[in-house]
Amino acid sequence: MTDMLNEHLAKLTPYRERICAGILPHHIGGAPDPGASGKTFENLTPVDNSKLCDVARGTAAEIGKAAEAAEAAFTGWRKASGKARKQILHRIADLIVARREEIALLECLDTGQTIRFMKAAAERSAANFRYFADRAPEAADGLALPADEHLNYTTRQPIGPVGVITPWNTPFMLSTWKIAPALAAGCTVVHKPAEWSPLTATILAEISQEAGLPAGAHNLVHGLGEDAGVALTEHESIKAIAFVGESATGSKIMAQGASTLKRVHFELGGKNPVIVFEDADLNRALDAAVFMIYSLNGERCTSSSRLLVQRSIHDAFVERLAARVRNIRVGHPLDPETEVGPLIHPVHFDKVLGYMDVAKADGATVAAGGARSAFSDAGNFVSATLFTGARTDMRIAQEEIFGPVLTVIPFEDEEEAVRIGNDVRYGLAGYLWTGDVGRAHRVANALDAGMIWVNSQNIRHLPSPFGGTKASGIGRDGGDYSFDFYMETKNICVALGDHRIPRLGA
Ligand code: NAD
Repeated sequence: MTDMLNEHLAKLTPYRERICAGILPHHIGGAPDPGASGKTFENLTPVDNSKLCDVARGTAAEIGKAAEAAEAAFTGWRKASGKARKQILHRIADLIVARREEIALLECLDTGQTIRFMKAAAERSAANFRYFADRAPEAADGLALPADEHLNYTTRQPIGPVGVITPWNTPFMLSTWKIAPALAAGCTVVHKPAEWSPLTATILAEISQEAGLPAGAHNLVHGLGEDAGVALTEHESIKAIAFVGESATGSKIMAQGASTLKRVHFELGGKNPVIVFEDADLNRALDAAVFMIYSLNGERCTSSSRLLVQRSIHDAFVERLAARVRNIRVGHPLDPETEVGPLIHPVHFDKVLGYMDVAKADGATVAAGGARSAFSDAGNFVSATLFTGARTDMRIAQEEIFGPVLTVIPFEDEEEAVRIGNDVRYGLAGYLWTGDVGRAHRVANALDAGMIWVNSQNIRHLPSPFGGTKASGIGRDGGDYSFDFYMETKNICVALGDHRIPRLGA
């Protein structure tokens, strides 16, 4: 064990003992709530699959109570001035920063994400709150649309209590992308976090309370998708669902929300290409391609899980790539040396390992990894894996594996790169590397994806739209796009004089 790992484990102990002391409660109406059912589920750590704690298992009853609290709080919160909302959201950000060490360490323990990446996650979450805090005073702003005899103007009003349903990969940060703009817009929230990573959602609810957010403005109900999740999407008082998760779950939520006409925002799966042309800066392209699939354990919706390399440089590029992948350090998530930590849960671990056999059966080559990591038998540790010699029709080139696994596909020319790039059901992100400025724009325009990065890894800019096309999602996060989702646009039309009114029955 390294000294830093020991230090992190020592720092973690009091945080872990506090949060795991009893049954992890819901937070409803501004207070911890054990739930009426008395039912619980177990939360494991992927480090060794031992139990961390029991978690209150929400049902329709707890969702109903939380939705009622959110509805009651909405009346006051929607009327709070933009300035008041701004102040409280900044206080939330301050408290996130104050508890950043606790959030980072617990997130690693709960999800297997590594400390090298989670260290910044709390700061990024605070930045999400600060960005939307600053924009809260202008959330209602609209347009002036003057006509000859009328003035039309628009204004935005919060849609009402909303449901936020989040997945287990970087759960704290992802939930702040949704909860911060919803609160800034004047909505109230019922959050249902993923059942495999409930710890830090509890911390965020505690922080909201401490920051002085009105009771009921931010509620948290733990539970499984099939009961708490379903109940939230079906609840009459919940006006919209902001969901991040698998595409198949998105389809279910759309059906579940149909009878109450839910507005939905979906951020779903991806099978994103990184396209490397022969004229690219190959050193930078290599760094970025490796980073975008093996960071965050590959459990990242925007990961570059398909590497498309031009045939003229393919063999040399892949040789360097394989050497890098074999070198990737799998280990304890709290060791700062670790680059890939354990995967979230044994079920997901089995799914990812299953693709090693799929690759071989498909006829691809396992150029690196391809098995459980030798680091430990107790947890969900997978070696960083590289599949080469793949074709676009193989399952490893089509399906979201969501682990530290990269599939390499060669291409001849620009046309073939675009064809292969688009040859998946997903359309979240695309990355392309070229020194030719014209080609950069041509390919960026031709790729079917919501976000393209040119000569760059994924860098998030909060005012820019984030979201996917095809099976990767509906709607966009970020800046005004978020407010458009959490708010209704109202048009007000005022006559400027005595325009003609048709006279019936006169
Ligand atoms: P998941 O769809 O299994 O679960 C996500 C959440 O939905 C969990 O809270 C779960 O309890 C809940 N849920 C499950 N069934 C439900 C139902 N019928 N009704 C309501 N809620 C239900 O996803 P996951 O395995 O937790 O997360 C991984 C997935 O998330 C990957 O596909 C990944 O690409 C995607 N993701 C997308 C983005 C993005 O921005 N596009 C970001 C992160 C993760």
